[in-house]
This record gives sequence, structure tokens and C-alpha cells, in this order.
Amino acid sequence: MRKMVITCAVTGAETTRRQNPNLPVTPAEIASAAAEAREAGAAILHLHARDPQGNPTCDTGTFRATIEKIRAATDIVIEVTTGGAVGMSIDERLAVLELEPEMASLDCGTVNFGEEYIVNALPDVRRGAAIMREKGVRPTLECFDLSHVDTAALLVEEGLLTPPLHYGLVLNVPGGVRYDDATLDFFARRLPPGAHWTAIGIGGHGELAANNRAIETGGYCRVGFEDNVWFERGAPAESNAQLVERVARMSVVAGRNLATPDEVRELFGLR
Ligand code: ZN
Repeated sequence: MRKMVITCAVTGAETTRRQNPNLPVTPAEIASAAAEAREAGAAILHLHARDPQGNPTCDTGTFRATIEKIRAATDIVIEVTTGGAVGMSIDERLAVLELEPEMASLDCGTVNFGEEYIVNALPDVRRGAAIMREKGVRPTLECFDLSHVDTAALLVEEGLLTPPLHYGLVLNVPGGVRYDDATLDFFARRLPPGAHWTAIGIGGHGELAANNRAIETGGYCRVGFEDNVWFERGAPAESNAQLVERVARMSVVAGRNLATPDEVRELFGLR
């Protein structure tokens, strides 16, 4: 079995302090959440930025300040979002690639997102992939639907994506594909041979169930307040690190030792 690669999505775009008062929001809070997550076993940080009012922002200055603080605190691999938040334009979402992060998420298609939707038209997906290729940023191919897996395959055929490929399979977004083990298995079987994939289950049940299944079947895990604010039913997580620690323990018990950030750099061919 492959080593386990844990991604921690500490903040996200939509989660609020009302949902979990321990949500990290400022660059300093995000950097210390990243360092704690690394300490607990995470190798990749999935990064969104917030403005001083706590709203999602695509301001590159805020991203830069946040990345500098994270870099000073820990060696974790940084994967910036290009999914941004509901209502942001594609130009706004891709601007952060100027900073040439090691990794970035690339949404591979349009998806319902609760009462809203996130549009990723094919030309925009191509554009994101092309910028990442040019700047040496390794994408995580976020797939919310099977058609997104096929879109990624098209981009491989077009030469915009090259192995090693890493997918994020996102299930249980309200309005999207619901989580169950058979659905995750089916998604994973549809990926190209040798592809790396991380299960991203939304909500308390979705996150835990998806991670359990990924541990058993050779996938990787993602946890964090972007996806889920609960530790148990009725008990909000104390920190992102608490969620990482649990999934790290489950992985090791199942015989999957944890990959370090440097091992992930090797595995995913990061520059
Ligand atoms: Zn995100």
C-alpha cells in the first residue's frame, strides 16, 4: 500500500466562526493552524485567504502574506485554491497563480454548490491548466462529478496535464454527488492507472466515511474546517489538527505510514 498523504483544508471560503469558533482566519492564525496540522501528520495545506472582515478574498497580497507566514512556520506543501468562492470571476480565482505556489487546486467542471453554483467552463479549465503548466504549479484535479474526470482526461490528451496526476474526488457537496463507498470506488476506478487521489467528503459523516474508504483502497485523505467543522455529532472540532490527528492514527493502524512534505514533493514531482 502507498504511504498516506494527508491534506488539511484549514479555512475554506464558506465556513464561518459561527459554525466553529476555532476557525483560523487571519494570516497568522492560518499559519499556526498549518504548523499544527503538519505536526499532527498533514503533508499538504489547502489554502484559502480571508480579508480582515473574514470574507473570502482572492487578493494576491493577502495570499502572499499568508504564504510567507506559513513558510516561516512549517515545511508543509502549500496548495492554493483556484476554486475561490461562489461569485468570484475566473480571472480573480486564477490571479493567485502569479505567486507560483507548489500546488493549486483546479476545478475540472461546473458544480451546484448548495443554493449557488460554481462555473468552470471548459476553456477556463484549460486556461487554469495552461498557466499551471507554464509556471510549474502541480494541480490537484478537483472532480465533483464523473464528467469532471473525463474533462481531466481530455486535458491529458491535449497535453495540458502530465503525470504524475493527483485528483481530489469531492463528494457530498449539497446539490452535488452524494457520498457512498460504492460511488467513491467507481470514481477511483475511472482514474488513469497510477493516478494519485484524495477523497474529499463534505460534512461530518461524509469526511469520515470518505477518509475511511480511502485508507482501505489506496487513496489519500483530506480533513479540515473547509469540509467539516465537527469532531463528533454535536461536538465541534477543537482545531484542524484534531481532525488530522484522528485520520493519521486511523491510517497508521491500517498499515499506511504518513508521507512527509518532502516525500510528497518527490511523489507528485513538485518543483
Ligand atoms: Zn478549497
